[in-house]
Amino acid sequence: MVPGIRRLVVVSNRLPVAVREVDGEWTVKAGAGGLVTALAPVLRDRGGIWIGWSGAADTDDHVSDLLADFSAEAGYDLRAVPLTSAEVDDYYFGFSNEIIWPLFHDFQTRCRFKPDYWRMYLDVNFKFAEVVARSTQSDDYVWVHDYHLMHQAFFLKSMGVKRSTGFFLHIPFPTPDIFLKLPWRWKVIQALTEYDLVGFQTMQDRRNFVQCLHMLMPEARIEGRGAVITVHVGSRSFRLGAFPISIDFNQFNELADRPDIVREAFRIKEALRHRKIILGVDRLDYTKGIPERIRSIGTLLDRYPDLKGRVNFVQIAVPSRTEVGEYRDLRIEIEQLVGRINGRHSFPGWVPVHYHYRSLPREKLVAHYAAADVGLVTPLRDGMNLVAKEYCACNTGEDGVLVLSEFAGAAAQLQKDAYLVNPYDVEGVAKALHRAFYWDKATRRDHMANLREQVRHHNIYWWVDSFLQAGVSKNLDDFPPVETVKYERG
Ligand code: UDP
Repeated sequence: MVPGIRRLVVVSNRLPVAVREVDGEWTVKAGAGGLVTALAPVLRDRGGIWIGWSGAADTDDHVSDLLADFSAEAGYDLRAVPLTSAEVDDYYFGFSNEIIWPLFHDFQTRCRFKPDYWRMYLDVNFKFAEVVARSTQSDDYVWVHDYHLMHQAFFLKSMGVKRSTGFFLHIPFPTPDIFLKLPWRWKVIQALTEYDLVGFQTMQDRRNFVQCLHMLMPEARIEGRGAVITVHVGSRSFRLGAFPISIDFNQFNELADRPDIVREAFRIKEALRHRKIILGVDRLDYTKGIPERIRSIGTLLDRYPDLKGRVNFVQIAVPSRTEVGEYRDLRIEIEQLVGRINGRHSFPGWVPVHYHYRSLPREKLVAHYAAADVGLVTPLRDGMNLVAKEYCACNTGEDGVLVLSEFAGAAAQLQKDAYLVNPYDVEGVAKALHRAFYWDKATRRDHMANLREQVRHHNIYWWVDSFLQAGVSKNLDDFPPVETVKYERG
């Protein structure tokens, strides 16, 4: 475990729990994500704190007692930052999800640059920073997560509160031509320079940030060449690093071999009459490229009739941001596309596309990964994409093929053994799928074994350790450069 860190304080938009009201009763359930799994032991060992919004608007009183009980059980403290529904609207749905999310994923035309959103984002960041200031001591390490909370170090400093701070951006960082569209670009860059360490998913994201920094703060000087470098601005220095996030490999690997899940995977294959299964799993979000992917399946069946009746495409689309009109429109578009392709190609006994609009329990999800012959992961842009890594971890038979978008952060690490595609190139994706279908067993095994080794080694625990080491380490030579994607000519 990382020496030099006394107590860890994690700050994220959401606490790692689900708070719900069921029949007038409030309940708190632990989150099951990889981040919680990896951070919980560090927080427990050092008596840490997790600060965040409970996820329920205007529920201050009911929730705090429940969180106190939960904290006692979890072994670390949960501190809720209460938000009003107006704050949730403008800071979370507005600034975070209608400005930063689309802009940082290169969807600038989807941005609504409303000044009210910006003001509320600052107010809520200040509110979070007040809770951080009150809850921490000078030798704590404060690790802030993601794009909702870029101003924590800035506000802590403006209050005169000195803390060691690190920030990790889970989503991509865009190139200057896109980032510069942000009306508050200088203030955002400047706020990020107030952290002691800023971490990105890939070297490309870090490079994009450095380019923006050079344009907006020409006085900034860079020192070093590895995965972690130092920036000097005026009298201050801070670090920048690339730390690809990951999954708990062993947990997925072991689940995939559990007898009940092996049986479930067999049932899935049997229900599809042991045809080859191509699997897509995503939150229903416009960054995930689901319509383009379904069009690629249509093109696959048009161009390569040898696959008719021999392959099924299964798409799990997890409902997300359902209250937002754009997401409802996307759902309709996807459902129409599925209908069109099934209408065009199916025949008695075979329906090519199986579409499930629901979230699956972990066991069922693992069974789907384990049953799939091809993991088709084609986001138009993605910070990392954990589904790609989970698919590999569950492929214990080492018999599957990962077809992966060049624009997923995961491509930097997995490019040698995944089949990389440009998700906008529907014919290219169809061609890749056709080729993957005919890869021989030895080729599939070699590539999947390498992919699994990569994910096994660079797992979520490695990620937590690397970030915290970079936060406190004296010597940056421990961080050699990590890879960037090499694009095909197409
Ligand atoms: N996932 C889930 N329920 C499902 C399908 C997927 O909880 O029914 C999880 C999946 O295991 C993965 C996460 O959702 O850990 C998706 O992460 P990813 O990085 O691929 O995309 P994000 O949704 O964070 O943009």
